Amino acid sequence: MKPWHAHYDQGVPLEAPSPWLLTDLLRESVRRYPKRVALEFLGRRLTYEALWREVEAFAQGLQARGVQKGTRVAIMLPNSPQFVIAFYGTLLAGGVAVNTNPMYTPRELRHQLLDSGAEVLVILDQLLPRYLEVQKEVPVRLVVRTGLQDYLPFPKNLLYPLRLRRQGQWPPPAFGVAWREFLGRGSPSPVPLDLDDLALIQYTGGTTGVSKGAMLTHRALSANALQVRSWTPDFEEGKEVVLGAIPFFHVYGMTVGMNLALSGGASLILLPRPEIKAIVEAIEKHGVTLFPGVPTLYVAFNRFPGIEKRNLRTLKACISGSAPLPLEVAETFERLTGAKLVEGYGLTEASPVTHCSPLYGTRKKGSVGLPLPGVDAKVVDEEGQEVPLGEVGELIVKGPNIMKGYWNRPEETQRALKDGWLYTGDMARMDQDGYFYIVDRKKDMIIAGGYNIYPREVEEVLYQHPAVQEAAVVGVPDPYRGETVAAFIVLKDEYKDKVTREDIEKFCRENLAAYKVPRIIEFRESLPKSAVGKVLKRELAPQKAVH
Ligand code: AMP
Repeated sequence: MKPWHAHYDQGVPLEAPSPWLLTDLLRESVRRYPKRVALEFLGRRLTYEALWREVEAFAQGLQARGVQKGTRVAIMLPNSPQFVIAFYGTLLAGGVAVNTNPMYTPRELRHQLLDSGAEVLVILDQLLPRYLEVQKEVPVRLVVRTGLQDYLPFPKNLLYPLRLRRQGQWPPPAFGVAWREFLGRGSPSPVPLDLDDLALIQYTGGTTGVSKGAMLTHRALSANALQVRSWTPDFEEGKEVVLGAIPFFHVYGMTVGMNLALSGGASLILLPRPEIKAIVEAIEKHGVTLFPGVPTLYVAFNRFPGIEKRNLRTLKACISGSAPLPLEVAETFERLTGAKLVEGYGLTEASPVTHCSPLYGTRKKGSVGLPLPGVDAKVVDEEGQEVPLGEVGELIVKGPNIMKGYWNRPEETQRALKDGWLYTGDMARMDQDGYFYIVDRKKDMIIAGGYNIYPREVEEVLYQHPAVQEAAVVGVPDPYRGETVAAFIVLKDEYKDKVTREDIEKFCRENLAAYKVPRIIEFRESLPKSAVGKVLKRELAPQKAVH
């Protein structure tokens, strides 16, 4: 069989690699590289062999407690061995993973657990209090809890709880089953799985203000990891070192970090938080070769004191996704580090990558590059007809990596998927060489520091505050986070001198994950409106950057 990149011509591989079950891809890495380090976490290493034992033990633990094909297992963990084990273990047991953001407040957590119907929750000890607040309202029947110390090397495993004790976070509430007790012994029973079976429900915001679950199949997830790999012609199986710094609970980190690494026999270096100092140190220490990041992180690299003197020469390829990457940022990064940085584009509903600039072929200013092998892409008008070359329209995509639909939301699915084409909600144009440019977002969404924020959701929380008469939330340009959240509020008369910006901020903090909390809060006498009474958001704040 030809290697996947045999068709690589001027930077463009033509054929899509055929997908496998993700667990089979991992098993293959285990077979070929049993002694290679699969995971490295703050000094603790697990070889492929050892990782597989834990994955099987987790799967067996699930099956012993009644998990069957299709059972939803919510995973609320930072990047850690437990995340990897719980995810692959869930798939091996036939379950469906539900990625759950550890920053969620109880309100957001309740929605996701209720909507997905998750029966099992795997959660970090410190997050348990948030779950306990909603416990009575959700269908979870089994909680598996774990602390980072479960996979820290000696003596860090003993010191870590002491540190938590000083912060008043130890011991954790005695609730659920502890990780070590949970892991089963022996092998799980094989579950017949098809590539089109559901593997992951990945929540993504919606303009309706309620986040909805994109149904990603085994095919979609493994296809996307392999499509991204085929785009990286230097990828050497069994030799790469991938840095898993961006969160795996978002499908970008999951596919381009975790799944890309483990399906290719790479060593995956895990960082629980994407902090720039730890990232730079990890690249030097472990000789990282592949790094997926978001624009904000590349800005942080460029501003990192002494970056040009650090040894980052091992990096073969860096990819930026999730928001537009300003060209100056990419060029400065390449100059300072000597690494290649390409921009990709995608969305949760596509597992997520659909486009990427070629690593070796022509890269064009402001472009997100070409569709990945196996992805078809078109730019269409309101009627779904392809627009003439070079004109702007909605970007639609098709391919093995596209979702099956939204979980329990047939109407939204119908709107997003037509004849197998996914309507991205992004406005784009294509040039004569087939390069795509994202021009604007059709959907009302803010991207701050790589996180998506739906204004409608923040507005709904603001409206719950007793003093708020009217609120409008918009994204404003921010040199570091790309965009930041700004809230414009009209207070009710009786509250006018009584409520402060700090009060509003505090209220938001209690009800929204930190990244969604408005950084800018302004009180106004009124909001600009159109003739039909729609708030004119464009008049409230400077426009979003447009390529
Ligand atoms: P998510 O579903 O969280 O992955 O967010 C997907 C959205 O992020 C897309 O629909 C785009 O609006 C935006 N996005 C992702 N990558 C890029 C990029 N390279 N340039 C511009 N927008 C992007």
